[in-house]
Amino acid sequence: MNFNQSNKLYKRGLTHLVGAVNSPVRAFASVGGSPLFIDKAKGPHIKDVDGNRYVDLVLSYGPMILGHRPKIVEKAVGKALKKGTSFGASTAAEIQLAKIVCDAFPGMDKVRFVNSGTEAVLSAIRLARAHTGKNKIVKFSGCYHGHMDAMLVAAGSGLATLSLPGSKGVPDAAVVNTLIAEYNNIESVQKHLTAHDDIAAVILEPVTGNMGVVQPTDAFIKGLRDLTKSKGVLLICDEVMTGFRSHFGGAQELLGIQADITCLGKVIGGGFPVGAYGASDEIMQNVAPLGGMYQAGTLSGNPIAMASGMATLLELKRKNPYLFFEEIGKKIEIILLEAAEKHGVALTVNRFGSMLNPFFAKGEVSNFKEAQICDTEKFSIFFWAMIRNGVFLPPSQYEAWFLSTALRESDLYVISKAADKAMAAVSAAS
Ligand SMILES: *Cc1c(COP(=O)(O)O)cnc(C)c1O
Repeated sequence: MNFNQSNKLYKRGLTHLVGAVNSPVRAFASVGGSPLFIDKAKGPHIKDVDGNRYVDLVLSYGPMILGHRPKIVEKAVGKALKKGTSFGASTAAEIQLAKIVCDAFPGMDKVRFVNSGTEAVLSAIRLARAHTGKNKIVKFSGCYHGHMDAMLVAAGSGLATLSLPGSKGVPDAAVVNTLIAEYNNIESVQKHLTAHDDIAAVILEPVTGNMGVVQPTDAFIKGLRDLTKSKGVLLICDEVMTGFRSHFGGAQELLGIQADITCLGKVIGGGFPVGAYGASDEIMQNVAPLGGMYQAGTLSGNPIAMASGMATLLELKRKNPYLFFEEIGKKIEIILLEAAEKHGVALTVNRFGSMLNPFFAKGEVSNFKEAQICDTEKFSIFFWAMIRNGVFLPPSQYEAWFLSTALRESDLYVISKAADKAMAAVSAAS
């Protein structure tokens, strides 16, 4: 296996692109080496420009839940393309997708489509402030909510990978209203809610993917719902990663809670740029043109993106793959743990449905502090050995791996062969 063409493109890309990438998570900053350039993908596989084929567990960081180029989505997109790519006026597709989304999330009577997860979150936060007339937002360290200024503190994977505490260029004034709490620690939230009477909302990833996969304890998530309700503080569930992935109704459905405002992205566009935020009628009344909270978008509700999202969601609904994900996820977890044990490598695997990742540390990982204890050097060795043995992973210890419905037993076989060699390499290096 060689990466000559990727390396060549990387050098060329450096001239006019920043770091040759358009999102820093795609740079191989923490694992060393230069990033792979992709030629094409089909089903569970992705091929780089050198013709190397991998089982894809990145899946564009989540959206490609049906694998790449599912026929049903290709067909829907092709059909939409023939009618025109953008109109600056409403289409029937937006109404259809809105119904599917609102039916899936009982807390959503109305939804507004936007173009990214970042945009969904920044709008949701504006909405929480508009609705409550309050300013402060509680967020958890290790949770990522897109790159809006106020959320770029203690924000998990991308920043953690680059060892940045926050981001340059964010004025103090933009984060004075952001309060940080610790995941799975209800007292850390209670403390803020007692100390401040100006809190509009608490925002969280109901299951995290951006400090690696971390599940909330039942006491934490239920406690958080009760606590926010009793204080008149809105709960925002950022389900950009988990929406339609953990379950059709997102992590909220599995955890048995209902957020006041839900943010969606990734899977909802099936590989096209779509985000969404939604809430009850009462809360959504604030959004223009019904209310005084302004939020707009030239390409929002784009007909091609809507067609892709709708085909993806309808196929997910028809397939109901969540049991399949549970089974296949469990198998990959066992593959990783057995390989680690065989080669004497300390490993913890966290998993929630079709999201999982290994932490190179022994013992529980239930918050960002514990996630940061793990050995990123070992991850780098593991990462490159997996690549060389045909498995494409996110190039960061703090990023979730994603499963698609296209995975087959033969892919698991590739993963298990690769994991064995990769754990051997980790073991040999330590
Ligand atoms: C990916 C992600 C975002 C940001 O979405 P973009 O489409 O990258 O802007 C926000 N929140 C969570 C939980 C995410 O995983």
